[in-house]
Amino acid sequence: MAQIIDGKLLSIQVLEQVAHEVDILKAECGIVPALAVILVGDDPASQVYVRNKAKRATEVGMLSLEYRFDADIAQVKLNRLIRELNSDPTVHGILVQLPLPDHLNEDEIISAIAPSKDVDGFHPQNVGALASGQPALVPCTPQGCMIMLRKVYADLSGKSAVVIGRSNIVGKPMAALLLQANCTVTIVHSHTANIEDFCRQADIVVAAVGRVGLVKSSWIKPGATVIDVGINEIHEEGRRKLRGDVDFQDVEPIAGAITPVPGGVGPMTIACLLLNTLKAAKKKNTSLKLDDMAFEAM
Ligand code: NAD
Repeated sequence: MAQIIDGKLLSIQVLEQVAHEVDILKAECGIVPALAVILVGDDPASQVYVRNKAKRATEVGMLSLEYRFDADIAQVKLNRLIRELNSDPTVHGILVQLPLPDHLNEDEIISAIAPSKDVDGFHPQNVGALASGQPALVPCTPQGCMIMLRKVYADLSGKSAVVIGRSNIVGKPMAALLLQANCTVTIVHSHTANIEDFCRQADIVVAAVGRVGLVKSSWIKPGATVIDVGINEIHEEGRRKLRGDVDFQDVEPIAGAITPVPGGVGPMTIACLLLNTLKAAKKKNTSLKLDDMAFEAM
């Protein structure tokens, strides 16, 4: 039986630590970390994500600012808002909920956000800093995966890791973080032949694909750690359910540790968003350093 890595529980621990540090920031410096979230259009999934982010931000004592626009908003108007938020010293984090409608240029909008307030870690400056091992705001989902992996391994050094998927928001930054932790990293993707052969060699498999139950037990080395980033909606017995990229029932008996879906990586993503907002607020306003040790020890 595999160790189930409980993302719900772990995210509560991260949020408690964030709330504690927010209290200190308020008491010692009079600063309330503020997160601005921009939502364009009425995509139901995006609405749920934005609502959850706002709720969690408020719960940890942050200020949550929401900017909602119709799907036909002009690019110039969005750019203007981002410029205003960039120069507002009371705003510490800016997030544009993706995906955006087709007429908007996503790259241009992400690049318009000040790198120091880019709490999603998608700005090219943060991407470059992560790739070259410099301090950066790191994308939330892979950051959450790393906290989970540190629960399993005291030292990741020398572990072999396979990341399935090479998106800018999950696969690539995940590989960069694993490399930074001295893992031997392979990225496989939709053009890779015999993916299962790569996975079978790995101590760690991270699946970030978007295909229900793609990863089977025959892909996994006995005792390996399996991190399932996938969130796929299925309809079963007339009900809507969430499933990962890993066939959990099949893989769990052979894995050493595994994340469930739901209740795995998902809750960690929001926790790391607030962790990034806290980092941004601290960096901007104080000489205090975030107690990174406290988070790494979690
Ligand atoms: P994406 O579509 O941008 O990228 C998917 C990647 O998977 C691509 O690089 C592609 O090459 C690869 N791929 C596609 N089919 C494949 C196959 N058959 N075999 C191997 N590789 C294949 O997706 P994304 O944004 O990286 O998200 C991936 C999944 O993670 C989705 O299910 C998404 O909903 C989920 N996700 C979850 C969280 C979270 O908080 N848990 C956050 C972001 C994304």
